[in-house]
Amino acid sequence: MSRYTRILLAVDLTDECEHVAERAVQLAQECNCELHVIHVLEPMSIAYGGDVPTDLAAIQGCVQEQAASQLQEFAHSIGVPSERQHLACGRTESEIRRVACEADADVIVVGSHGRHGLSLLLGSTANGVLNGARCDVLAVRVGSPAR
Ligand code: AMP
Repeated sequence: MSRYTRILLAVDLTDECEHVAERAVQLAQECNCELHVIHVLEPMSIAYGGDVPTDLAAIQGCVQEQAASQLQEFAHSIGVPSERQHLACGRTESEIRRVACEADADVIVVGSHGRHGLSLLLGSTANGVLNGARCDVLAVRVGSPAR
């Protein structure tokens, strides 16, 4: 079986992403391949249904700057250089899939809470990424174990 050549690690920049990143770094070392990292910002008009009463552009600019510096710090901490860091803006799942294609990644590494019940019906980022992905998707369990 051929080895992976390029991994795209999706991070939400919460504490949990360190565990997901560990798996991606390990896989990259085992396969001796390139590791890319992506963080997606959802435009406030998507997150709040277009109903935000203040100057959206200014707030969005601040949020974007802060996310860019957090992503840079996190990516450097796991040894991913700037040219392999991707900050995207849009729907999280579709942006992750789009950048995976653009970067020619053959596997996406994403965290999964192993949801069940109502939250499973509402969906998760991991499910959304898997749905329509053109490459493999590795879902790394995060949070407390599913019962
Ligand atoms: P969730 O289903 O939203 O709890 O997220 C689970 C996983 O999806 C995270 O561990 C990340 O791998 C990925 N993810 C969630 N939100 C983002 C985001 N804004 N940008 C990139 N990846 C994300």
